[in-house]
Amino acid sequence: MIAFDLTCENDHVFEGWFQSAAAFEEQLVKGLVECPLCGSTGVTRHFTPFGIKRDRTSSESAPTEAHLRETARKIVHFFETNFEDVGPSFATEALKMAYGAIEPRNIRGVTSEEEEKTLIDEGVPFFKLPLPDKKPTTGEH
Ligand SMILES: [Zn+2]
Repeated sequence: MIAFDLTCENDHVFEGWFQSAAAFEEQLVKGLVECPLCGSTGVTRHFTPFGIKRDRTSSESAPTEAHLRETARKIVHFFETNFEDVGPSFATEALKMAYGAIEPRNIRGVTSEEEEKTLIDEGVPFFKLPLPDKKPTTGEH
């Protein structure tokens, strides 16, 4: 015996038991398959979504490279708009803040390796953000 989920033309869903798939087809063609609710013989097999549902979780949870690039771009944009660019004076400015010489503020800039060592030695908190390659600026300012 085999069970099929069936749907009649009035959208009644019911279960029918048949000796085989072929027997079901034969009875269907002969109009012997009736809806138990309304007696309609306009019955079709009802395919449950379960059988055709695709497993989308695995592909959706993995971020694409484009998505990661977009996230990095947003982070860079945040720093560019919220942090004052002090350029090569970053280490000097950071040290001044650490010693209370100037008011602390959000700054960004570039440091040499030596300056980084100085900052670390002085216990000045900072972190490095790897910036994506930008097109070389051709002096437009
Ligand atoms: Zn029906």
